[in-house]
Amino acid sequence: MFTTGAEDKHIDALTRIYTKDYFIEHAGMMFRNNPDTEFCLVELEVNRLTMINDMYGLGEGDRVLKTIAGVLTNIFEEVSLSLICRVQADLFAFACPYEKSLVESYIDKIEDRIKMLSIELSVDLLLSFGVYEVKDRNLTITSMCERANLALRSVKGNYMHHIAYFDESMRDKAVQEVEITAKMNAALLNREFKVYYQPKHSLDDERIVGAEALVRWITPEKGIISPDKFIPLFEENGFIMKLDAYVWEETCRFISENQAKGIEVPPISVNVSQIDLYNPNLVETLVGLTRKYAIDPKMLKLEITESAYTESTQQMLNAMDKFHEHGMEVDMDDFGSGYSALNVLKDVPVDGLKIDLKFLSHTDEDNSNKARRILASVIHMAKWLGIPAIVEGVETIQQVEHLKSLGCTMVQGYYYAKPMPENDFVTYMKTKSTRVKLEIEKLFDETVINPDDWWDSVGSDCEPILEMNSCYMLFDKGEGEELGVIRASDSMYEIIGGRENFYNSPYTFNNAVHKDDLERFWAMFEQTNDYHTMGKSICRLVFGGKTIWADFKIRLLEKYVDHRVYFAVVDDVTASMEAIVNR
Ligand code: C2E
Ligand code: CA
Ligand code: CA
Repeated sequence: MFTTGAEDKHIDALTRIYTKDYFIEHAGMMFRNNPDTEFCLVELEVNRLTMINDMYGLGEGDRVLKTIAGVLTNIFEEVSLSLICRVQADLFAFACPYEKSLVESYIDKIEDRIKMLSIELSVDLLLSFGVYEVKDRNLTITSMCERANLALRSVKGNYMHHIAYFDESMRDKAVQEVEITAKMNAALLNREFKVYYQPKHSLDDERIVGAEALVRWITPEKGIISPDKFIPLFEENGFIMKLDAYVWEETCRFISENQAKGIEVPPISVNVSQIDLYNPNLVETLVGLTRKYAIDPKMLKLEITESAYTESTQQMLNAMDKFHEHGMEVDMDDFGSGYSALNVLKDVPVDGLKIDLKFLSHTDEDNSNKARRILASVIHMAKWLGIPAIVEGVETIQQVEHLKSLGCTMVQGYYYAKPMPENDFVTYMKTKSTRVKLEIEKLFDETVINPDDWWDSVGSDCEPILEMNSCYMLFDKGEGEELGVIRASDSMYEIIGGRENFYNSPYTFNNAVHKDDLERFWAMFEQTNDYHTMGKSICRLVFGGKTIWADFKIRLLEKYVDHRVYFAVVDDVTASMEAIVNR
């Protein structure tokens, strides 16, 4: 472990501890000569060293590295059968006898010293440790280092966890990553990346106020791969810049094409990765796309994750000014996930905040109360600062009601809709258009509506079929055989055993119709092709394993583009039908 006595070529010039080559040779010897001792090999890395070099010059960065080498030397001078080295740049390694608590006590010592240095330099230095417990002595030291490094990478940049122990799943993941890296370029050319859209809704009137573009990788072999499998990797290897540019362009094309068809498209937000901020042409690229597709720059909104505001402050401020000059808006994503968010808000002119419920969800009572208070105060603070806030990850009616009570006005989440492919989103936009919305409002404001007036207003002179206390639904039917439920009365939800049963698959109410009754069900829609004729049918519905006989009466309410909206009154006639069937 001592650095004295070794030849100079084995000593790292800056930190005066051993080099990687020396370590590899001598750790191997140490393990072989002590077959009865259990060893471990640990790698440690300083995050954000580049930032320190940028802020204070190379000298301060060197000081950090020397401090780490110093504390390693101090600790391991006292430990027999140990060895330390600087692997490269900001990566160090040590090998020593393995006993978990002991190794963690060394790590604590290293962290304590680095915390002191953090205070001296007033930067937030973060160390990550990867531990490989030497179980297979036949491995080369290089392979052992790789294993320690895989463990390290699993906690790199993580504020909560600094230490990781190698396990085999990490290797599987690494293999997967190699595969992904090999395929990514071809996949982009083959258009395997698809942009999905997830609506953002207003809580006041449920209108669509925006959408977020989220990428999916659809492979011929493995189907859909979700972004958390490849985005972090692409952020590391830089491919994210290409992928993001592709997603931005697809989004602009989507907006432009649908506007040309007369569809009311809301502003759509795209994600901008932190490393995109280091691209000097970022603003020109984005503005250029809005010009190429002739869309208002306001239609393309940007989401930039909170940590970018603290870790790349200067880049962020520069880009932000330019975006604003061109009329583009920027929201801070994942607000509340990082550290210094609050003081950042006063310095950076963000146009909106996105708060993710995921960062505030806790299972135990105490923490969940705390999370609720944090959520309330963040929403109030945003209001007070005059920054629009949207809450994402909203999954349940309880969350919606709670958010409404806090004065939150916009949400995004599975409760309304999951991210969906382009075509489905077009249908969704049409279904939830403002015009239909007005009809819905008229319809469901039970205290005001007079059924006669309502039918008159949609051009019907037939006698009203409405008894407002029965079950009713609004259907949206596109060209194909897919039927969406826009809205249903509470009594309807009761019949089918809960709201979720509709909104889990909003476009496919027909899937709930018993297959033997489907023909009759669709025929009913044919009967009511004009505003005057009522369609009728008695069909079985299957929800959650339960079969219900439903008596439908439907009317065409509105036609627009290739869609039709129907109003349906539904009676549960299960009891009488079963009596007949069982007779
Ligand atoms: P994000 O930007 O925070 O996106 C929100 C994530 O929450 C999305 O995950 C979305 O599908 C998910 N989500 C929405 N509503 C709910 C809900 O009610 N419950 C739950 N549990 N999740 C919900 P997704 O699509 O898997 O994307 C994950 C992350 O990958 C995104 O987080 C974003 O950071 C990144 N990402 C996705 N597409 C792109 C892209 O085109 N470019 C870049 N740079 N990053 C992207
Ligand atoms: Ca986002
Ligand atoms: Ca987010």
